[in-house]
Amino acid sequence: MKQAARIYADHAASSPLVPAAAEAIAKAIAASQGNPSSQHLEGRIMRAVIDEARASLAEWFGCSFGEVIFTSSGTEAAQLAMVGTALGSVDQKRTRIIIPASEHHCVIHQAKLLARLGFEAVFAPVDRYARLDLAWLEANLDDTVLLVCLMHANNEFGTWQDVRAAAALAHHAGALLFSDCVQTLGVDDPNIGFWTPETLGADLVSVSAHKIGGPKGVGALYVKAGTKIEPVLLGGGQEREMRAGTESVAAIAGFGAAVRSLENAPVHGVAARAFESSLNQDLFTLTVPDRAIRHPEIVHARIPGVKAEAAVIRLDRAGLAIGSGAACSSGSLEPSHVMEAAGYTHAEAKEGLRFSFSRHQTAEEGAAAALTANEVLKGLGHAR
Ligand code: PLP
Repeated sequence: MKQAARIYADHAASSPLVPAAAEAIAKAIAASQGNPSSQHLEGRIMRAVIDEARASLAEWFGCSFGEVIFTSSGTEAAQLAMVGTALGSVDQKRTRIIIPASEHHCVIHQAKLLARLGFEAVFAPVDRYARLDLAWLEANLDDTVLLVCLMHANNEFGTWQDVRAAAALAHHAGALLFSDCVQTLGVDDPNIGFWTPETLGADLVSVSAHKIGGPKGVGALYVKAGTKIEPVLLGGGQEREMRAGTESVAAIAGFGAAVRSLENAPVHGVAARAFESSLNQDLFTLTVPDRAIRHPEIVHARIPGVKAEAAVIRLDRAGLAIGSGAACSSGSLEPSHVMEAAGYTHAEAKEGLRFSFSRHQTAEEGAAAALTANEVLKGLGHAR
């Protein structure tokens, strides 16, 4: 029997390489002889590859070349943003870091690390859709807060945060704002449209290549000029002394190419919309029913009483790849900390299913994914 084509609906975990990135990587590998820090021709060729990618990201962000630091991942960019500002802090009084409990683990765990080093991690409550309450933020900001962390869109629910408003509040109190924008590079903000670190008002912005069709294992941190920050990874003087270690030149080249290709294929959400319209909503409960407040490519849902693992395995066997909870926790039976932060019970927090699409997928693919999900999982839930 002919097997139907697999559908990949886990783009929020990682998106396949776009052709331009694959080409740029191959070209950089073929040219790879020197160390980008060396002064000879072979080194300068490698340096030029990095500079081109940095220029692409700086152009996309509308920032200066020197405000972009390449890292090994979105995770490392978050670490540099958080631990780096803690190391760079000159005001002894500012020892508190505010983090919504629904942030990505790469932010939550840096905050816990900082707590071990004498800072205070203040976990902010979020609403049913994992959004920070700005009134709570305002009430908790004072001259003891060093940094507010607020992700741009949640990687599980897809919900947008009002980073611009939070940044204004943070700055009013003299604090810095770091936004994890790993899920939103190239995706229009519902309030701003095309966004840049400046229009978001963020001092620090982290991004990651593999969420936009670049390679895995490379990220970047935007650091607004003048921000007091110290390096975390020490050694050679790479990345203008902000991140030591010989650069992963080919991966950086792929990142630059993926950024440039964003322009040619804007995010439209057609696959996710078609998916949602075809999903059997007697079976699935949407976590964030209002499309206007979430990332256009992410649909989070659950089948009450059905563990996500069981659903993910069945769908995988049927040719549909989806995520349950955050990518880094997949394979584990841990409940989603995002769902728990949003008020779901421990049992419910093991039921989250994340369907996430890309700008290269069609409405047909989205609808086909929904039909598979409806069909394969219908026996598991209790129709309401
Ligand atoms: N932040 C968010 C919101 C993410 O979704 C992810 C990836 O899952 C990361 C950070 C980590 O990025 P990386 O995989 O490049 O370390």
